Amino acid sequence: MRSDDRRTQLERDLPGAAGRGEIVAVFQAQYSLATGAIVAAEALSRWIHPRFGLVEPAEFIPMAERLGLIGRIGDVMLRIGCQAARDWQATGHEIEVAVNVSILQLRTREILTTISGLLKDLSLSPRLLTLELTESTPLADVPEAADTLHDLSRLGVNISVDDFGSEYSSREQVIALPATELKIDQALVRESRGDNNEELARAVEFGKARGMRLVAEGIETPEQLERVRALECDRGQGYLLSRPTTKADLDGMLVSAAGMDTER
Ligand code: C2E
Ligand code: MG
Ligand code: MG
Repeated sequence: MRSDDRRTQLERDLPGAAGRGEIVAVFQAQYSLATGAIVAAEALSRWIHPRFGLVEPAEFIPMAERLGLIGRIGDVMLRIGCQAARDWQATGHEIEVAVNVSILQLRTREILTTISGLLKDLSLSPRLLTLELTESTPLADVPEAADTLHDLSRLGVNISVDDFGSEYSSREQVIALPATELKIDQALVRESRGDNNEELARAVEFGKARGMRLVAEGIETPEQLERVRALECDRGQGYLLSRPTTKADLDGMLVSAAGMDTER
């Protein structure tokens, strides 16, 4: 099949995908670098297309943003994420969930109604929800975003700047946001080597100076893990620690980690 045909078909099917239950989430654990415990999980979207099978977010999220469908997909992910955090809490695990939110979802106040409704319906504490702002569009191009974010932060949810150190999430923008967490871009973690980790160290320093929580993502090697630990990042995420997986798998990981704790 030509790639144009695939694209046309995906664009035709995307408007109904969320309603048909084809948008699902996988979860990737985040670990405390001080204790090694799982303290949070990031919800990552996947589209199970009836004909093409698994479609990655790199393909359908930009499409959804372009077609004005990101709000619908975002709402599904928020619901799945909050429900997961609620389930974990109900089974005795205080695990935060991190849901990716596109800057375009902050254009209107609808997201506020969605999130406050979910927190209330599920009796979920706002501190168990982190919104990871993914900047596919520069923040400056969405003038309403800052106000929406301030209102969201008043709800008590954590606000994280995803891919910090990459093209868009510049320092100036972060200072203007009510953000509580910096998620350091994978490229900074990966490119840091031996003595050459100045950029990574600067990003960590920047966040620490503002009292922000620091999460290093894309950790693939023991050396990278050691480096972010030495810089005193709070949390780590990456293939070395664990890959994105189903909620059922993550539930199992939480249970066996709790088992190890009681055996100690
Ligand atoms: P992100 O939010 O920065 O998520 C991290 C991405 O890196 C995920 O890719 C994850 O699977 C991958 N990853 C995790 N650890 C490693 C590692 O050690 N090495 C490497 N090479 N990669 C690692 P994924 O799931 O394909 O998502 C890609 C991007 O799509 C996300 O980047 C996020 O920007 C966007 N995205 C995913 N789900 C959603 C969503 O529900 N809403 C929005 N707005 N964006 C989403
Ligand atoms: Mg993210
Ligand atoms: Mg990221």
